[in-house]
Order: sequence, then structure tokens, then C-alpha cells
Amino acid sequence: MNTEPLRRTKILATLGPASDAPGVLEGLFKAGVDVVRLNFSHGSAQDHINRAAAVRELSKKTNRLVGILADLQGPKIRIERFTDTKVWLEEGQAFALDINFDPKAGESTQVAISYEPLAKEVKPGSRLLLDDGRIVLDVVNVVNMRVNCTVIVGGHLSNNKGINLMGGGLSAAALTDKDKEDIKTVAKIDCDYVAISFPRCAEDLHEARRLLEAEGCYAGIVAKVERAEAVVEDVLDEIILASDAVMVARGDLGVEIGDARLPAVQKHLIQRARALDRIAITATQMMESMIENPIPTRAEVCDVANAVFDGTDAIMLSAETASGKYPVKAVEAMVRVCLEAEKHTSVRVSKHRVDKQFERVDEAIAMSAMYMANHSNIKAIVSLTESGATPLWMSRISSGIPIFAFSSTEHTLGKVTLYRGVFPVRFTHELQDHAEVNRAIVERLKKRNFAALGDRLIITKGDLTGIKGGTNALKVVTIGEGLTP
Ligand code: PGA
Ligand code: MN
Repeated sequence: MNTEPLRRTKILATLGPASDAPGVLEGLFKAGVDVVRLNFSHGSAQDHINRAAAVRELSKKTNRLVGILADLQGPKIRIERFTDTKVWLEEGQAFALDINFDPKAGESTQVAISYEPLAKEVKPGSRLLLDDGRIVLDVVNVVNMRVNCTVIVGGHLSNNKGINLMGGGLSAAALTDKDKEDIKTVAKIDCDYVAISFPRCAEDLHEARRLLEAEGCYAGIVAKVERAEAVVEDVLDEIILASDAVMVARGDLGVEIGDARLPAVQKHLIQRARALDRIAITATQMMESMIENPIPTRAEVCDVANAVFDGTDAIMLSAETASGKYPVKAVEAMVRVCLEAEKHTSVRVSKHRVDKQFERVDEAIAMSAMYMANHSNIKAIVSLTESGATPLWMSRISSGIPIFAFSSTEHTLGKVTLYRGVFPVRFTHELQDHAEVNRAIVERLKKRNFAALGDRLIITKGDLTGIKGGTNALKVVTIGEGLTP
């Protein structure tokens, strides 16, 4: 019988040229990837359609549900191009960003930029960070749409590198024309989640949801928190509530608020998301050195473990799996670090919500199940769920007990792939007799090597199975007592 603990923290891996190589996607599945990311900042619509199809096919073949997250590019502001692809910037020299300059003819003193509002949105003294902060420019003055700067930190600067304004404040709307076009592709792919880049406020997410629903896409919305204005207290809660999941997008966020603030913001964001019954993803540079090396650094191992201690639902790989040399090893490294971190008692016990009143019966049942699971001898929790609400509430409580979400709704099965400690089980049945339903549940758990003689399970369900929001029962069954193992 299986006594290996199930990994609760979910792994989200970005697809790209590296994962397109023969056998790599199979390797990622085998290593334990839970959700894949299609990054619309790179590649064509057809690339994403093909990758999604490959994932769905492999899911069927291996009988392993892997979710799909489509990540829209958003208003990443970029410089145009250089005559010789890159230039060297010396500390202290002058360098200008010019809206009217030839977009292909950048040189060591100037380069074109297509984002028109820049000239109005910066002032003397503003600090611009290029290429994820590797190059730092201070604005001297703005003359006729030309932003004259001094180089504070120099180095190589190459074509199309991104620009962030320290402290935030660039006004670009979250959804660009390209994003609106990509939404049509996303709707065709039928993904489980869509990530919105650089939202400024809740309205950006409402708008994205409206546009997606108009195309018939009801995927969960992920807000990438990566602007300084998004982490301001009230705005942050509104953004969390307007989405189904939030991403601590440490790459861009780190340049906007300064890297030193990231650890505290990460903890706060994850804690707020959990308190508001939303999912949290921790992203960027988690295994960065594995782009080139087969093993992670000690600092990366600690970063992954700390995200687990912070309570994140999922951890994300970017270039490590999209274009790195060791995509499968990067997932394997995350798996082993998570499993070990999850043994720590701090992530298995919970004092949350013991003093709270619950208005809904299903929420109260979800909480009771977790309390019981954490405080008595329970092997697993099974939630018969159509909407997925019950396992979402359950997974907001720290625990070491696996939560199996049994559902016949594909949409729900896809969504729970991101929930910490929740494992999707496709379950369609015509049974109404409770004893028969119990037996069918045990049969399914047995297939996963998860039901031995004497094991005690919690089952939550509604009197009428298949009805949303109808959970009104919590029962405890022991395998062997009227239930064959
Ligand atoms: P990106 O977002 O990988 O799309 O830039 C994540 C981040 O900014 O950290
Ligand atoms: Mn980003």
C-alpha cells in the first residue's frame, strides 16, 4: 500500500522551445508537473494551440489531469532595436529614449521607444530600470518626446528589453490590443486559467473577465501582482477579490518596488490571498541557476521551501522549463524540496478561523472537516463537489491530510489542479444510494493506492449529488467496517 506522502504544493511549469523537444513534456508529466503555463509574451498563437493540444493528449494517455494557464503579455514597455543588436552603456554617460527615433537604428547614445506616454509620465529624477533592473537610468529632462537620461548602472543593453519605472506609475492599461487578440486564441484553447499581466486595479480584471466570457471562456482569472500601485493595501485586497488566483510576479514587482521589499510582500500577499479564499502562485527565478546547471543552489532550495512555509498554493518555473537545459530536473528538484518542506509541522497545523462564524452550511462543513482531519486520525478527505467551492475552502486551512476533489465537472477538475493539497478525481456516477456511493469512492481511492483496511476517511457531499453549493453532509467511514478495502 502506498505510504508515500502526496505532494501538496503544486508545480506550474512554463512551456517553450525546451519543453517542445522530444520526450520532455512526458518527462515533465512524470516528474509531477501539475499545471503548465503558455507564455503569450513569446511564440505564435499556433505554438500555444499546439502545446495545449499536446498537453491534453498526454493527459488522456497518462490519465493524469494537468491544468493549463494562458499568460497574456500585457503592457510590458520595451525599447526598440539597435543597429548592431546591442550596445555597451558606460556609467555616467548620457543615453536617450526617443519616441520619434528610427525604431531599428538604436546606438550607444539613444534608442527608440514606442510607448508614447513615457515622456509625460516621467520627470527629472525618475529612475528607469531596463532588462529587469540590470541597467539603471535616471531621467535628466524631457525635450519634445525625448527622455534624456544619465546611466547610473551600465552594461550591455540589447534589442527589445523591458522598461520599468521605479515606484510604478506608468499608466498603460492592463489589456493591450495584442492581449485582446490573444484572448480569442485563449478561448479556443479552452484553458483552466488566464493570467492578466500588470493589472493596476480590480477593474482591469473585471474587464478581462468580461472580454473572456464574451468569447465563451470561463477560465479562472490570475492577477499577476507586478506593479507598485497594485500592492497598496486596499487596492491589493480588491485585486485579490476580483480574481481567482494571484501571482507574486517577483520579476517585474521586484524592479518596481525594489528587491529588498519582495520577501515581506510575498508573505503578505500569500496570507491575504488565503484569508480571502483565493489561490496564490509564487513565481520567477525560483530555480534560475538550473537554466544552465543540473542542480539548484542552496539559496534556491531555501527559496522554494520558504514559499511552501509561506503557504503558497503553487510555485512556478519560467525559463527553467521553457528554454533551460534541464527542464525535467528543475521539476524534480522542486518536487523533492516541497515534499521535505511539507513535513514541517508549521505547515500541517492550523489555528485559522476557529473564532469565525460561517454563514453558509457548505463552508461550515468544509471547516469542520479540516478541524476533524487535523485533530483526529483521518487518512484522507473526499469532497464530492460540482463547483469546487468546498475543496477551495478546505485547502485554505493548513493540513497534512490530502483532499480528493471528486467531480464530474471538467471545469472544476481543471481548476483544482492549482489548489494546495487538493487532488482532482474524475467521478461520474448514477448512484444515489449512499452506501453504493461510498463503495465507489473507495474503489477510486484504491486505484490510487490510497485506501487500506482500517483507514478512516471523511466524505463531504450533498444529499443530492451533482448539485452546486449543496454540500450538507460530513460523514466518517472506516474501510473494512461495511466497506471492503
Ligand atoms: P513574466 O511575469 O514572467 O511574464 O514577466 C512574472 C514576473 O514578472 O515575475
Ligand atoms: Mn512579469
